[in-house]
Amino acid sequence: MNELTTEHYRALLGLDADWRVTNVEFLPKAKLVDIRIEYCGSKLSCPECKCSCPRADMAPERTWRHLDTMQFTTTIHASVPRSNCSKCGVLTQPVPWAGKHSRFTLLFEYMAVEVIKACSSISAAAKLLNVDWQAVQSIMDRAVARGIVRRNMSNIRNVGIDEKSFGKGQDYVSIMTDVDNTRVLEVVPERTRAAADKLWQLMDALQRKLIQAVSMDMWSPFMESTRAACPDAAIVHDKFHVSKYLGEAVDKVRRQEHAQLCEEGDDRLKGTRQLWLYAMENIPEDKSALMFSLQQVDLKTGRAWSMKENFRHFWECKSQEDATVFFTTWYTWATRSKLPPIAKVAVMLKRHLSGLLSYVTHRITNAASEGYNSKIQSIKSAARGFSSFENYRTRILFFCGKLDLFPSISSH
Ligand SMILES: [Zn+2]
Repeated sequence: MNELTTEHYRALLGLDADWRVTNVEFLPKAKLVDIRIEYCGSKLSCPECKCSCPRADMAPERTWRHLDTMQFTTTIHASVPRSNCSKCGVLTQPVPWAGKHSRFTLLFEYMAVEVIKACSSISAAAKLLNVDWQAVQSIMDRAVARGIVRRNMSNIRNVGIDEKSFGKGQDYVSIMTDVDNTRVLEVVPERTRAAADKLWQLMDALQRKLIQAVSMDMWSPFMESTRAACPDAAIVHDKFHVSKYLGEAVDKVRRQEHAQLCEEGDDRLKGTRQLWLYAMENIPEDKSALMFSLQQVDLKTGRAWSMKENFRHFWECKSQEDATVFFTTWYTWATRSKLPPIAKVAVMLKRHLSGLLSYVTHRITNAASEGYNSKIQSIKSAARGFSSFENYRTRILFFCGKLDLFPSISSH
């Protein structure tokens, strides 16, 4: 092989003086470019304790996939020296072109991270990169691990804790988000007190002390954990969860009333399920006449819907006093409504009033983690190998963690 070519490849790969390219072979039939690299350095230092030490031997030859050369798959082959440290024993030396345990060069991983970020699914990325999905997963695992090490946690003031369903059954995961920077911080299995405690372990005592408010559902395991981990932080009940409970109550009222009306031969509520789920401003134009007519007659469902809609004014209150007055009036209306599902939600809201009132001061919600839902849903549906929680966690953090995922390539 002529010297110009090997030197050219040495520069392309960003190798230092300890390594040289001994051969570059083009195999056009196999659509391959094979690059052989040899260690030519002399001084070794222990990868653990950094002290200089003698060479033990050369590890068996390994292969790394590199960026393609034009349309040719390009691989690097090299045997890596092992150092013999008196304290740490025999250890394989790191190589400048690849991370530990990776079958890919850093430049390949850099490009792969770009491709995965731009792809709608793991299988699409795997196809473009010409690797299997496990390889994509391993590149994502390393990218997320890098990102977490580099992540800045010092500026977090408001966090959200939320649950998401995972897998096919009634399995859940708990998610912690950084509300102000709209990023997912961590995902853990289940939605228990222990799960929330695990989320809080993400921060040290000093970081937790800086947390001002935590947005969450009225879910006692999350509340207990937060009170223990962040006693000074305000618990703010998320308005989207409240709206969901009220929406479900409206639907329950509708179902009961519909069944009752049907017995009397009245099917006015037939096919109106979706209609009552709309907020006032979202009622489609072609449905507004129907809604108007249903509102004119004294239906229980109509009253329930009005109570749900009316509660939205709570979130607009400018002071704790106003919010308290509003709530008291609404609560009386709801509990005297003779609509048990609505009254039940009202009682639950009263029990959590302090967390609802905190919204007036802190104005945070779990909107961001609700926003991740569609993204997480597409990660879920487009992915194979999804029975594993670890894969799920990696994918959420990869796409929603706002992490610095790229390998650092110093010599390029
Ligand atoms: Zn050592």
